[in-house]
Amino acid sequence: MRIARFATDEGMSFGVVEENTVAAIAAHPFGDLAFTGQRYPLTDVRFLAPILPSKIIAIGKNYAEHAAEMGSEAPAEPLIFGKPSTAVIGPGEAIAYPQKLSERVDYEGELAVVIGRMCREVPAARAADVILGYTCANDVTARDLQARDGQWTRAKGFDTFCPLGPWIETEADPSDLEIITTVNGEVRQRARTSRLMHTIPALVEYVSQVMTLLPGDVILTGTPAGVGPLEIGDEVTVTVEDIGGLTNRVVARD
Ligand code: MG
Repeated sequence: MRIARFATDEGMSFGVVEENTVAAIAAHPFGDLAFTGQRYPLTDVRFLAPILPSKIIAIGKNYAEHAAEMGSEAPAEPLIFGKPSTAVIGPGEAIAYPQKLSERVDYEGELAVVIGRMCREVPAARAADVILGYTCANDVTARDLQARDGQWTRAKGFDTFCPLGPWIETEADPSDLEIITTVNGEVRQRARTSRLMHTIPALVEYVSQVMTLLPGDVILTGTPAGVGPLEIGDEVTVTVEDIGGLTNRVVARD
């Protein structure tokens, strides 16, 4: 099932995407879904970020090949950091390049986990019980600021630096999906999620030992090798097999 958040002339709603339509659901997509009976052709809706998380927890260097290209070893324990909720944008929205503050902004295509219920101290074996589904993410990063600051809040936290979408796929098996990032149609990253060093169940256990996870919270699982710069005017697409594609263009920040 593909759960989306979308806008129409009448407002915004969550819904379930079927072939050419989206069936609206009342309130929120957690627990039993309450269908309103309203249905919209896909041509009449604009997809939004599929969820507005209370927090986004991201994993650094979770593919060995990416850790190597950054000149470091892959950490033995997951390396976690946060991105603010205000960084989230949806499919088709613009990534605003903060050209007054940074000269190097990178894409990072990632598989994102969306949490479905409030939870803490979740054993890895129970992780599936708290996961609503999966979506595509771009962990946009001001690489020069990341290096200069020594920690990552500023580099990862700009408005628009967390594109999510196009929807939450609830039935995908995330253990071995191809993930591809293209810039202007050219492939820059191509990997499989089977190369994740810390698996999704392990990440849910690890993060939930630290903090309570709320419905809609997002865990970014890390980016594979091949990160590189974006320029103003570029169009970047993150595609995850069995989930979909997330495209955003880059504009100069006002
Ligand atoms: Mg990342």
